[in-house]
Amino acid sequence: MSDCIFCKIVSGQIPSQRVYEDDQVLAIRDINPQAPVHVLILPKQHIVSVLELTDSRLLGRMTVAAVHVAKREGIVERGFRLVTNTGPDGGQAVPHLHFHLLGGRKMEWPPG
Ligand code: 5GP
Ligand code: ZN
Repeated sequence: MSDCIFCKIVSGQIPSQRVYEDDQVLAIRDINPQAPVHVLILPKQHIVSVLELTDSRLLGRMTVAAVHVAKREGIVERGFRLVTNTGPDGGQAVPHLHFHLLGGRKMEWPPG
């Protein structure tokens, strides 16, 4: 997807702060952090959202990567939030599947 921001981040056309990477998954710091720790975990392959997922193993890889990053960021003892916004009502701005890993402060519930 040539006009997708996250595909450009995966290819290196747009710079990012990479905190984890493997053959299928990339984790970067969010450009507009909403918590002391705010990392985005995304597949390197262009998938719009969970609605387009066909390979459930990829979601497992993303989850394991998120936990790995959470441990490294020191937020597992206090806890964290792992979410994927989907579609307009879900508040998804970038149409390339990603988890938000948020931690380092107390999260509110329900979310806004
Ligand atoms: P969404 O609203 O789609 O769930 O989340 C998109 C996230 O991507 C937002 O938190 C936004 O701050 C982040 N974002 C948008 N553009 C960029 C960018 O160019 N670099 C990085 N690192 N994050 C971005
Ligand atoms: Zn993309």
